[in-house]
Amino acid sequence: MSAMFDKIALVGIGLIGGSIALAARRAGLAKKIVAATRRAETAETANRLKLVDHCGTDLAAACEDADLVIVCTPVGACGEAAKAIAPVLKKGCIVSDVGSVKQAVVDAMAPHLPAGVHFVPAHPVAGTENSGPEAAFAELFDGRWTILTPLPESDPKAVDRLEAFWKALGSQVDRLDPAHHDRILAITSHLPHLIAYTIVGTADDLGGHLNAEVLRFAAGGFRDFTRIAASDPTMWRDVFLYNRDAVLEVLARFQEDLFYLQRAIRWGEGDKLFDLFTRTREIRRALIHLNQA
Ligand code: NAP
Repeated sequence: MSAMFDKIALVGIGLIGGSIALAARRAGLAKKIVAATRRAETAETANRLKLVDHCGTDLAAACEDADLVIVCTPVGACGEAAKAIAPVLKKGCIVSDVGSVKQAVVDAMAPHLPAGVHFVPAHPVAGTENSGPEAAFAELFDGRWTILTPLPESDPKAVDRLEAFWKALGSQVDRLDPAHHDRILAITSHLPHLIAYTIVGTADDLGGHLNAEVLRFAAGGFRDFTRIAASDPTMWRDVFLYNRDAVLEVLARFQEDLFYLQRAIRWGEGDKLFDLFTRTREIRRALIHLNQA
């Protein structure tokens, strides 16, 4: 396959940036892939692992002459990154990101980007609880969704090119409005993470620390929560701060539903519990049917 881009620049080279680099190389999508990151030690690790042709710490220098720039930093750092790279961006270059929150990233990045640059925000709905360049792997996006959230003014050709890029990385691609994306992800991803952080914190408080018994008798459910609750603190802090309204809205509904169950347990209303658990079991079966579980 001929390369889709002459030069790709990744701003931030952790789990997502590193995995994009590996998947892009696997598919031969670029003649050259470079990266820049905040800390010299992260750059050294990325260079040692040969994730990209070169990784430095000068964000702007990495983006010079790039045809595709993808900002792969935590959501709260995207605006500053856009500001730093804006002066060197080549006319016609596609600028994207991978943030788990979209509207706040659009608001933070768009004002800095010069005319003639095509901004197409994106979110690969793929990840693990590990972070940093050492966590990157080429197969991360295989068969997973990437959601593009183009703006009304986004150039359709640039959006199509970015869609083709993500498909070549192994993803399935769909498009959503940024605010709509944030509402969906609040329930499918952000709330589950918040619940996991809470449960593991509660268990820790009960035992004073995760003592031997809690770990030894941890059933599947609790173990799954500890995995999710091991996710990167900086990334998830930013997700909740920057998707505040949508998360607070689903959290309010969730709390109501939790109180409903609490009351059913208190009053021995087994039929209410049974009805809900039957309904949720059907949802799981429908998910498996959709090949998404
Ligand atoms: P990560 O492994 O922690 O990597 C983050 C990268 O951003 C590192 O290279 C880090 O640099 C750099 N960085 C952090 N703060 C910076 C700053 N102020 N200026 C410049 N660079 C900075 O994180 P990740 O998991 O790849 O996540 C990156 C983005 O992908 C986030 O926006 C997240 O919402 C999104 N995302 C994550 C997942 C997931 O499951 N992890 C899934 C989908 C999307 P240093 O190490 O040099 O400080």
